Amino acid sequence: MELFKGKRGIVMGVANHMSLATSIAKWLVTQGAEVGISYLQDAEGSNKMKARALKATNDFPIQFCNPCDVSSDTSIDHFFSSVLEHWDSIDFLVHSIAFAPLADLKSPTIDTSRSGFIKSMDISCYSIIPLAKQAAQLMTNGGAICAMTYLGGEKVVPGYNLMGICKAALESTIQYLAYELGKENIRINGISAGAVKTLSSSAVKDFKSLLSMSTEINPLQRATNIEDIAKSTGYLLSDMASGVTGEIHHVDCGFNIMAAVNTKTSKSIPTAET
Ligand code: NAD
Repeated sequence: MELFKGKRGIVMGVANHMSLATSIAKWLVTQGAEVGISYLQDAEGSNKMKARALKATNDFPIQFCNPCDVSSDTSIDHFFSSVLEHWDSIDFLVHSIAFAPLADLKSPTIDTSRSGFIKSMDISCYSIIPLAKQAAQLMTNGGAICAMTYLGGEKVVPGYNLMGICKAALESTIQYLAYELGKENIRINGISAGAVKTLSSSAVKDFKSLLSMSTEINPLQRATNIEDIAKSTGYLLSDMASGVTGEIHHVDCGFNIMAAVNTKTSKSIPTAET
């Protein structure tokens, strides 16, 4: 089955082979899509990050691999000009980007710095607005946008702190954009992904115990994997989801439905007898 035959679009946020963006791009290509990717150039302007993004995607064909720093309007403009050198229209855009300064990410929420808050919100939330605006101008036959979020934006996940606040704002932004873009037949949804080890997630405080705890208590009793996330992102971007917009779709093996743990079977929760 080639769900994306004749479709083309952009996947933003490839850092390395573990990035969610990499597996999403790969899945879309296996479904017949033409895909261009973005990466974040390092401050020195070397080719190191481009080389890493190209290495991550070397087992499937991509149309281009161009830099984009979403905290800069100029960089976003340059990126979309570079897209126009290849294509005059697109069908989809994936936003798989987040950032928080390490000191703020590791701090209790109450110690979050003003500058860290603004920077994290800018990159992790605000960026979907100018990217959706530019993408929408290229979606001349309608289209679909998908952004990555996490349960910590809906409920308290200890350690997720500042990033949880950014995800809450991102999820609300998705809904407002869905309302405004709907009349142009452009859909926008969020994937609330289960915990997967990547460069960004490893920076979250106590990520290892969060991963093992969520794996142990979720209904499917296994870790969410990158293919789970890639396939569901593909579904939301495809015509299979033609009536779905403004939705936050959980792909976390059911972890989000749990309100209590079975203390008899859980290894991580001590029982009265232990
Ligand atoms: P990752 O580190 O591979 O990806 C994060 C990407 O954000 C990187 O490519 C990085 O270069 C990019 N980025 C940071 N600042 C940027 C900027 N100024 N301009 C452009 N790009 C910038 O990690 P990931 O886990 O693949 O994260 C992708 C998305 O998935 C993020 O939104 C993350 O919050 C979300 N997510 C991840 C998990 C998980 O467990 N891994 C779970 C739920 C949601």
